[in-house]
Amino acid sequence: MENNTNKLICSFCGSDYPRPNVLLGLDDSIICENCIELYHDIINFGNDEEYESFDINPKFIFDELNKYVVGQTKAKKMLSVAVSNHYKRIKYNLDVEKANVLLIGPTGCGKTLLAKSLAKILDVPFAICDATVYTEAGYVGEDVENILLRLLQNANFEINKAQKGIVFIDEIDKLARKGENVSITKDVSGEGVQNSLLKIIEGNIINIPPHGGRKHPYQEYIKFDTSNVLFILAGAFDGLSSCDKTDNIGLLKTSPNKKNNLYDAVIKYGIIPELLGRLPIVVKMDSLTIDELIRILTSPYNGLIEQYKSLLQVDNVTLRIEDSVIKSIADMAYTTQGGARSLKRILEDIMMDIMFESVKEEQAYEYIITNDTIKDHKKYQKIQV
Ligand code: ADP
Repeated sequence: MENNTNKLICSFCGSDYPRPNVLLGLDDSIICENCIELYHDIINFGNDEEYESFDINPKFIFDELNKYVVGQTKAKKMLSVAVSNHYKRIKYNLDVEKANVLLIGPTGCGKTLLAKSLAKILDVPFAICDATVYTEAGYVGEDVENILLRLLQNANFEINKAQKGIVFIDEIDKLARKGENVSITKDVSGEGVQNSLLKIIEGNIINIPPHGGRKHPYQEYIKFDTSNVLFILAGAFDGLSSCDKTDNIGLLKTSPNKKNNLYDAVIKYGIIPELLGRLPIVVKMDSLTIDELIRILTSPYNGLIEQYKSLLQVDNVTLRIEDSVIKSIADMAYTTQGGARSLKRILEDIMMDIMFESVKEEQAYEYIITNDTIKDHKKYQKIQV
């Protein structure tokens, strides 16, 4: 469209431009550079190209998980299959039930790491939260919808991406139903939160407040479809060990006569059957063995010791930790039952002085940590190399 000042007006946004800035015109209609960009984005929004390129075979996912997660072979296998099916269902639009996952395992055995690694491998948005911060709507605390907002933020507000992301909710066992609810301000039983979670994880259109916080009747909401979000719930479920150790698969209601199966044990623990019913895949993870703890320390692929070595390398310092020390650290972590979390704590303690004293020098140094360093609190050795 040409106006009387000899400028051209974009037929889409109405802005006027001097002639050279006009990119495309057809008959009487023209479109400016800005509108081309804008409409290109709109058309490509939700383009599933990245999901098309997923290698969704379970073997691939398993092999990739092996790079990050030590041990937990059964859990890795089950998750690989579950996640592969989940994304196949999205990619081919299959009429298959949504498969959310419940991970049961002691602290520090790699539950969070598994979920995080999956999101990294699949390159999908990931959000992590702790179930204990949520309360039933109307009580003091956060609404469970906020976890979806976090997913959306982590997807740079691309809703289509967020709607295919992974949400990890930890400490779900802390929501266990405990009988009498004694507080009027806090839903202490957690059962209300379990009910709120139900709606979100089964796959629904959820209204989320765009700025987080509590819902407000006159607020505009973002509509978030959770049908394709993979929810991974996790908890330690201390004391659940009484259930049959071999029954570590989500055989929901398949063995009604079998005493102490995992399903019954989780219900007895206080998870409501409706919620557990939406978690068809239940994976029981074991405590890490001493050998596995050693591998976590020494793995060349981002192992804990390797991380310290790379930090020290910046200062021209090398680090040598004797094998006997590594074994002692693993033994100590195993005894404290904090899994790999304890490894981190113990190592941090041992490394503190070295990290504090290491400064960049012309001369290269080597720090040596022996069993004396940790057992008798002797100082590490420092030698010029
Ligand atoms: P939790 O089971 O309590 O969720 P995390 O996954 O958060 O435990 O583990 C805490 C840290 O310990 C992780 O950041 C990771 O470095 C390490 N870790 C735990 N389990 C493993 C494992 N199986 N393989 C490798 N590292 C692990």
